[in-house]
Amino acid sequence: MIFSTNIERVKRNFQELSDLSVREDDGGYTRLAFSDQEMAAHQWLMDKLRSLSCDVSQDRVGNVIGRYGASSGPSIAFGSHLDTVPQGGLFDGALGVIAGLECLNQLYENTINVTHPLELICFTGEESNPLGGTFGSRTMAGLLERSDAYEKRLRECSFSWADVEASRKSKKDFLHFLELHIEQGSVLETHKKKIGVPNAIAGMLRLAVRIYGKAAHAGTTPMDLRQDALIVAADLIKKVNQIAVETQGALVATVGEIHVSPNVPSVVPGEVRLIVEIRGIDWSRVQSAGQSVTDWVKTRNHNSKVSRLVEKYPCQLSNQLQDEIIMYCSRNHVPFHHMFSGANHDANAMSTLCDTGMIFVPSKDGISHHPDEFTSWDDIEIGINTLIATITKLCDEENN
Ligand SMILES: [Zn+2]
Repeated sequence: MIFSTNIERVKRNFQELSDLSVREDDGGYTRLAFSDQEMAAHQWLMDKLRSLSCDVSQDRVGNVIGRYGASSGPSIAFGSHLDTVPQGGLFDGALGVIAGLECLNQLYENTINVTHPLELICFTGEESNPLGGTFGSRTMAGLLERSDAYEKRLRECSFSWADVEASRKSKKDFLHFLELHIEQGSVLETHKKKIGVPNAIAGMLRLAVRIYGKAAHAGTTPMDLRQDALIVAADLIKKVNQIAVETQGALVATVGEIHVSPNVPSVVPGEVRLIVEIRGIDWSRVQSAGQSVTDWVKTRNHNSKVSRLVEKYPCQLSNQLQDEIIMYCSRNHVPFHHMFSGANHDANAMSTLCDTGMIFVPSKDGISHHPDEFTSWDDIEIGINTLIATITKLCDEENN
């Protein structure tokens, strides 16, 4: 089966989706998790799927599933998300859903009967939200942890733990999962490649650090009598950077959030709270970097407190799917690049259920989560063609 993307239809679908967003003055698009705009986008998708004779369902947390082909048996699934960050771009998440729709459109138009069921999944709440990012896919994979605090947050978002349990899927439901996504970094552009083939999705550790000093008058307290918490924090920020740099690409680490108290020009800072984030595909290295940061802080500031805020484990992506993607690229002279995903995706949760792969397309200047997020239509077309070719190849193989 050889199909080629109808790029004009793809553009129309992006336009229709952008019309359902809150349009910001800066040109951004906002469809926050669980908002009216995300729900409208899900409704839009369900209408499209029904027009392609798909069996359409929505689970109790809001994930949309469009099934094409046999009503029973494990599926070859693909998809992404339609929620955005505030003032986000056009392509993050939406690309994977619209590409999946294009795949089903091609099959429908060409009256192809797949003997293996296909499922387009649109996960709800992928971006940062009160229930945690990748909420929909983690629900589906049964990765959420039940606690009183979490159930309270669910209720605040109009869900219950019963909804979470009812939306859970099992390993028997899927053969493969594939997610096409913009890279959200500049590796492909730098290497002048059109397709990224990730072998893993990085894990993430966030540490909440509190450093204690002593607030004092900035005019009357001599330099040698100060306990300035911000000076320690400044050294820590440099230390975090150094720890990651020394791994030569294995880890990235960032201090992106900092709160200084009392945050007044005439007072020596008495307390600093900050968040250290460390990401990498080798979890033992992430953890040991986290330990180094903790040890450094404890030695330098005896009263300091360090706690683990978020732990998201890395995942390995399917070798078989990487091979299929590479084979398609090689045959069609599409320049591709082996890499890993520094950003988390729904594919991470899905990898705990089935054989999972990802396909990346270039992001101009590496910009994402921003109105300037951009991927050329030519690159989008290549990405969608790669996704469709990989899905149909898997169909053929499963049929043999
Ligand atoms: Zn995304």
